Amino acid sequence: MTPRVMIVEDEEALSLLLRYNLEAEGYSVEVVPRGDDAETRLRETVPDLLLLDWMLPGISGIELCRRLRARDVTRTLPVIMLTARGEEQERIRGLATGADDYVVKPFSVPELMARVRAILRRSRPEVIASLLRAGDIELDRETHRVRRSGRELRLGPTEFRLLEFLMKSPGRVFSREQLLDGVWGRDVYVDERTVDVHIGRLRKAVNRGRTKDPIRTVRGAGYAFDDQFVTVN
Ligand code: CA
Repeated sequence: MTPRVMIVEDEEALSLLLRYNLEAEGYSVEVVPRGDDAETRLRETVPDLLLLDWMLPGISGIELCRRLRARDVTRTLPVIMLTARGEEQERIRGLATGADDYVVKPFSVPELMARVRAILRRSRPEVIASLLRAGDIELDRETHRVRRSGRELRLGPTEFRLLEFLMKSPGRVFSREQLLDGVWGRDVYVDERTVDVHIGRLRKAVNRGRTKDPIRTVRGAGYAFDDQFVTVN
């Protein structure tokens, strides 16, 4: 089952960034840039989660949220508000209007993704898989444990997120830049060589005393979780 996320946001650069990251996580995404159009669209279809900007053309995010809460079919629709920095009072008002959570712009994409997952896990547990499996590797996103052939592996937090990110899209090759965006976040300045260092640590932890390496280095392109590994093991 593919969880569906609707983004209501008039800043195109931001909605593109969110769409890209949500799709990479396996969500199906629809973007609506106006508040009034979003209201119309939500009468036709209700997604599993709404990312709702505050300041929108048409009607504001806060007003839309209030209207959604007044309708039976959208009363419990999970809503994350995207607010501008420093609007403390407004954020409180947002939560009072019925938003489930909020993030302040500019926000870290991995953090927003974690919140999306956390809210969906509560509200729509059937659409969020907490266990990722490939070959003899098992990664539990809820308990942050990784096992290989039943034996627990010790991974640092960055190696865990890196493995999780790669395992979500077996076979897909990610450039170092894409890995930095997806695992470290856009606003963090990290040298691309850092990716190689953490890939090295991840390999060491995962392949201890084994020959089959699940991580594929693609020369000139980046890294992938080997989809051969998924089927061979
Ligand atoms: Ca806006």
